[in-house]
Amino acid sequence: RETRKKAGTMAAAPRRTVKLTHPDRLYWPQQGVTKEGLADYYAEVWRVMAPFVVGRPLALLRCPDGIEGPRFFQKHAWKGVNEHILQVSDPKDRNGEPLIAIEDLDGLVGLVQAAVLEIHPWGSTLADWERPDMITMDLDPGDDVAWSEVIAAAEQVKERLKQAGLAAFVKTSGGKGLHVVAPLKPKAGWPKVKAFAKVLADAMAADSPDRFVSTITKAKRHGKILIDYLRNQRGSTAVAPYSTRARPGAAVSMPIAWEELAPAIGPAYFTVTNTPTRLSALAADPWARFREAAVPLEARAARKAA
Ligand code: ATP
Ligand code: MN
Ligand code: MN
Repeated sequence: RETRKKAGTMAAAPRRTVKLTHPDRLYWPQQGVTKEGLADYYAEVWRVMAPFVVGRPLALLRCPDGIEGPRFFQKHAWKGVNEHILQVSDPKDRNGEPLIAIEDLDGLVGLVQAAVLEIHPWGSTLADWERPDMITMDLDPGDDVAWSEVIAAAEQVKERLKQAGLAAFVKTSGGKGLHVVAPLKPKAGWPKVKAFAKVLADAMAADSPDRFVSTITKAKRHGKILIDYLRNQRGSTAVAPYSTRARPGAAVSMPIAWEELAPAIGPAYFTVTNTPTRLSALAADPWARFREAAVPLEARAARKAA
């Protein structure tokens, strides 16, 4: 394949200085992925992952005993949080508990040390909390939906985003579905971005009611794909590119090229184990142009996506 070449895109992994306690603790017992193995994985993907996790509020899924033990979804800093992890104050909740952010690989390894097995950033940055710099359309297939249908849905989301003047990138969720992500120049605020995402999802459901739904209540019906637009409201999150999932298999959410969407690559195809090989074989990061492709959401975008 022309996208492959000998020398990979990945330079040597950056240094990490955070010390891990219990490095041999098994986080994914079936795959033998330990705390140290997870820290090594994040060091390998850091260069491509960093733009999506640095300088954003983060929600975290923590599993102190690995994926087979108890878990909790955490949005706020905790006592004894690692010194490389930032505590940030939500400008709209000045008296609330601090939120969590990172600025470098040490911060990420600090999260690994704290048994964070999933990282879920906001769609806006600490530099501009109120104006998202991406839209995430989350495609959630119900039972009995063929993977080819999910791929077709992602292509339709891409097409509608394009009609609205936006670029679209796709990643596996590491769970059951796909995420289609559009980079934005932060200009429109959360309410406008959410309204746009809702119009897009509603239009898909209206045009193909046998295939798509845009509301969670109707999503219980089998055989349809929920076009989940609710990742796009203030305080909502979506799993980060390259984040691991706290599910069996040690899958990760993998940014891919549109041409890679195929039956053989399912939503949990890429894992902690096979990702380093993928990255060193890729000639180019499929999301390399993500940020430069960003444009502001136009006032008339919703009309064009519908
Ligand atoms: P899948 O492909 O299996 O759907 P997903 O990451 O898209 O994987 P969803 O259930 O569709 O999972 O998305 C839910 C989103 O809501 C997550 O990405 C996360 O950001 C957020 N979330 C997950 N767990 C919680 C929780 N306990 N409390 C609040 N928000 C959560
Ligand atoms: Mn989903
Ligand atoms: Mn969802």
